[in-house]
Amino acid sequence: MKILIENILAVLPGGPKVRSIYISDGKIESVDTRPADFVPDKTINGSGRLLIPGLINAHTHAYMTVFRNYADDLPFNDWLFDKIMPLEDSLTPDDCYWGTLLGIMEMLRSGTTAFADMYIHTNCAPRAVSDSGIRAVLSRGLSGGEGDPAGARRLRDALDEIEAWSGHDNITFMLAPHAPYTCDPGYQREIAREAARLGLRVNIHVSESLAEIETIRERYGCSPVELIDRNGLLTDKTLAAHCVQLDDRDISLFAERGASIVTNPISNLKLANGVAPVLKMLGAGINVALGTDSAASNNSLNLFRDLNYLTLLHKGINHDAEAVSARTGLEIATVNGARALGLSGTGKIEAGMAADLAVIDLDRPNMQPVNDPVAAIAYSAFGSEVETVIVGGRVLMEKCEFLTIDGEKVIDEVNKVCKRIYG
Ligand SMILES: [Zn+2]
Repeated sequence: MKILIENILAVLPGGPKVRSIYISDGKIESVDTRPADFVPDKTINGSGRLLIPGLINAHTHAYMTVFRNYADDLPFNDWLFDKIMPLEDSLTPDDCYWGTLLGIMEMLRSGTTAFADMYIHTNCAPRAVSDSGIRAVLSRGLSGGEGDPAGARRLRDALDEIEAWSGHDNITFMLAPHAPYTCDPGYQREIAREAARLGLRVNIHVSESLAEIETIRERYGCSPVELIDRNGLLTDKTLAAHCVQLDDRDISLFAERGASIVTNPISNLKLANGVAPVLKMLGAGINVALGTDSAASNNSLNLFRDLNYLTLLHKGINHDAEAVSARTGLEIATVNGARALGLSGTGKIEAGMAADLAVIDLDRPNMQPVNDPVAAIAYSAFGSEVETVIVGGRVLMEKCEFLTIDGEKVIDEVNKVCKRIYG
């Protein structure tokens, strides 16, 4: 399939320019120079449109759309242990499949072309990703202790899932020890050994709340970051979500190990966990990516909202209007996300990169006049301006219509799940 996106204002690595984009075999073949014998199967008119690299949601739990607006305005521990975890026990694999598809619809609708996911039932997320055509780096959440049969079973399930789906074009896997407070040190070391053996990335929640810092200090006499480092889980293949409560030593450890951090500004605010020290992280040279976290704690998977918060929040708390500029924010939401997820072939509009792209309608009152398109993305857009989304050279949404997903059916199925689990 060859696609031509003609004369579109494109956010290129060097800045926005009007260019024609030639796509073939899933990749951007050329930016502006027409390849010899290029005959497009499909042409998209770029007039009045903006082309951005697809956004990368580097931390979510897509199946949790079924919990959207179910447990709000609660302290973190009450929210997680009293409300969310008991309900999770009532979810079947099929429930998770429909919930994940709804999450994927929401992400595509707002220009996300790849995401990192952590979940409770295996094989549902890969099915939903495969059926929809989006790109994802997936991981079954692991919790347990050394010698604990349930923990061993979870790890075995995760490894079986990885083997079953190996070689899929749009899917790769990580191992996901849930958090330092749900995996004991022996279990952490076991997961670290398996990740090293298989060359897999590690997806983990770290230093999300003050209560976590206290718990880990009481149990082990160190910070959560020091603990996972001791147990071999802090490496250049680690993707650590949240990292709200980091001290300077934690930040140095991240920088030394080359691990990536995913900041989740809205989820951290909503659960009253605080604001991550993103400026210090960036200053230390850490690769910082952006994630929504789940629809139970955000309550949206629209990365435009988090991009907006990311760029505003750190200006406000640091009294520094230059902090996390629109450009830096967009890089965090694209290139840095790609690096964090090990998706080196995406995140930029450049020849040779995967054609993972979002077309934005600029003919909206909130997007006019177009003085600075990058500022418009960070400060003026809602995400609803996204009208066409391409992943790996395949059009998944065109003029706001899903081409691979039956949206009505998905919403209907998710509502059935909710009716059942909420009684
Ligand atoms: Zn999370």
